[in-house]
Amino acid sequence: MPALEEFTHAALQEIINKGRYRQPQAVRRLEGAYVEVDGKRYLSFACNDYLGLSHHPHVKEAAIRAVQDYGSGAGASRMVTGNHPLYSELEAKLATLKGTESACVLGSGYLANSGVIAALMAEGDLILADKLSHACLLDGAKLSGATLRRFPHNSLSMCEKLLARERHHYRHCLLVTETIFSMDGDKAPIEALARLAKQYDSWLLTDDAHGLGVAESHKADIQMGTLSKAAGSYGGYVCGSSGLIDYLKNSTRSLIFSTALPPMVVASAIAALDVITEDAALTRKPLAHARLFTSLLGLQPAESPIVPVIVGAEETALAAANRLRQQGFWVAAIRPPTVPPHSSRLRFAFTSNHTEEDIIRLAAAIQQEGSIVIPGI
Ligand SMILES: *Cc1c(COP(=O)(O)O)cnc(C)c1O
Repeated sequence: MPALEEFTHAALQEIINKGRYRQPQAVRRLEGAYVEVDGKRYLSFACNDYLGLSHHPHVKEAAIRAVQDYGSGAGASRMVTGNHPLYSELEAKLATLKGTESACVLGSGYLANSGVIAALMAEGDLILADKLSHACLLDGAKLSGATLRRFPHNSLSMCEKLLARERHHYRHCLLVTETIFSMDGDKAPIEALARLAKQYDSWLLTDDAHGLGVAESHKADIQMGTLSKAAGSYGGYVCGSSGLIDYLKNSTRSLIFSTALPPMVVASAIAALDVITEDAALTRKPLAHARLFTSLLGLQPAESPIVPVIVGAEETALAAANRLRQQGFWVAAIRPPTVPPHSSRLRFAFTSNHTEEDIIRLAAAIQQEGSIVIPGI
């Protein structure tokens, strides 16, 4: 066997042996919270389109109009000819929404985090990241060449201990956290982290991927996020002072050396932000639905639209998700390496498209599902 084939075959076998082999399935998203897989219809609790905006009539219309006006692709990097007129409109809206002087839109949340961290930090600098930070935050830290230390999840005292012990050995220091943790649904103590950052002459970067459109705003030096979740579109962004954003536009390699987003993607994000700004009743629904679910199951009240039910073993999570599927619910079984070993879980994402009836049916199905042991029940 050629060496490449031999290597990939053995490496894949290892993934299979660990029970971590995955094959994406063709999923057609239907109207509302439904999906179609293999010709069957399921009620989905596995989608981050928290406000259903990817199917909102205004958002779809804006995308179609942009294709007609500007064509399907951007044609080049934003620094060459890809910076179509819709970008400045979207960036102005983001800055207003986040209460910052300026904003910069990049290709995706992944490209934003990996590029921005690498643009700001370098060897001789220190990055302190929450242990549960998203992979692209950690990849950005690695790419930067700075020293990376991780503090236990949401532990202010351990973060401060690291700052007190290590900060003075380094030139710059960046604290990194998520506003709402993607696989746990809990919130970071942003205000306290901002105070620590100030006290130790450090900068705070918050990843608001799961907060935009469904949680209240917050303050941080560098506010990053994505347009691919509640905004129902695609693209990453970073908001901050005009000086910071100007510097990032001139130094972030994932922005400079990558083609700009298609105009229709930017147009749909603009329309989605308009809905988010104008429809407060809509943006409150996902959390209200998550809270109904946690109260029905006697769980801690949800802090966000994301509710994990941790079952431990990978096979248990997979089997439980499969049985819920047989009852018509599409639920994600999340396993390592996305989450730490022995913390495999069902991750429920609640959206404005669910009804109270849907949630009551789901909770009843979980209560009947023997293998899902819910703490406190
Ligand atoms: C989804 C996600 C990202 C990546 O955003 P994309 O736009 O999907 O690339 C970054 N951080 C967190 C916390 C996320 O959940």
